[in-house]
Amino acid sequence: MKIITSLKEMQHVSSKFHQSGKMIGFIPTMGALHEGHLSLIKKSNQNNDVTVVSIFVNPMQFNDEKDLELYPRTLKQDSKYIQDYVDILFAPSVEELYPDQFQTKVRIGKIGSQFEGEFRSGYFEGMATVVLKLFNICQPTHCYFGQKDYQQVLIVRQMIHDFNLPITLVMMPTVREKNGLAMSSRNRRLSQEEKKKAAIIYRTLQQSHGVINHGSVNEIEEYICDEIQKKSDIRIEYIAICNSDDLSDCKINHCKEIVILIAAYVGNVRLIDNILISL
Ligand code: AMP
Repeated sequence: MKIITSLKEMQHVSSKFHQSGKMIGFIPTMGALHEGHLSLIKKSNQNNDVTVVSIFVNPMQFNDEKDLELYPRTLKQDSKYIQDYVDILFAPSVEELYPDQFQTKVRIGKIGSQFEGEFRSGYFEGMATVVLKLFNICQPTHCYFGQKDYQQVLIVRQMIHDFNLPITLVMMPTVREKNGLAMSSRNRRLSQEEKKKAAIIYRTLQQSHGVINHGSVNEIEEYICDEIQKKSDIRIEYIAICNSDDLSDCKINHCKEIVILIAAYVGNVRLIDNILISL
C-alpha cells in the first residue's frame, strides 16, 4: 500500500490507472477505521483492479467546532489496519484540499433538506463538495458507501446522476457489534455502559418490523419513540419512516420498500441508524 498526501501525485497516479484501463474502487472515509469501513474496502478489493481509500476529516461538513476537534484521528493505526486490502491510501491535509482561494460548493436538492440536513446545517453540502473533489482527484470507476449513512448514499447517488459522473455506486449493508449497535467512529466516545444502552436503538427498529402492518406511519414512529424512551434515557432527535427511493412521505402498503431513519443522543454522543423494510 502506497500512502499519498499530494493531490497532484494522486491525480497523476489515477490518470495512469485509467490509461491502462484499470477498474478503480474508491472508499472515501474520515478515518478511525473499523469493520464497517473494512467491509467496503474488502468488497472493492474483490471487484476492482485497484482500491483507493481516502482518509480526510472534512472541516466543511462539521457545524460544531468541538465535534471537529473531538473527531478521532488515528492515521497510523488506520494504515496498518487496511494495508493488506488497499493499493493507495490518499490522506491529504486540509490546506491541500482547501487552499485559501477555495470558494465553490455543491448545493444539495430536496433529498438533503430533511433529517440529517435539517439537524446538521451545512453537513451534506460539505460532504458532497469533498466527495466530488475526491472523485475528481481519484477518478474511480466504482465507489463504496455504507447503508449506515443512508441519506448520504441517496445524495451521492443523485449527485453522480445529476453531474453525469462515470461512477457506479455500491451500497454495502451496515456492519454491527454483536449487540446490534451500528459500528461508528463515534462509538469510541461511548462508555461500556452507554454502548450496552445504545443497542436498544437497533433492537427497536427490528421489532418495528413486526408491527409495521398494524398502524399508520405516525403510530409506528410513536411506537419506536416510546419503546426507546420507556427503557432508556436516550434522547431521540428524529424518527422518520419514508419511501426508501427518495425519502418522500409514504403510506404503509403504498410503497415497495420503506426506510426507518433515526438519530439519537446516547449521553452526549449523537448516533444514527436505519433499517430497510420491504413490504
Ligand atoms: P465515515 O468515515 O464515517 O465518513 O464513513 C466512511 C464510509 O464508511 C461511509 O460510506 C459510511 O457509510 C461507511 N460506514 C461507516 N460505518 C459503517 C458501518 N457500520 N457499516 C457499513 N459501512 C459503514
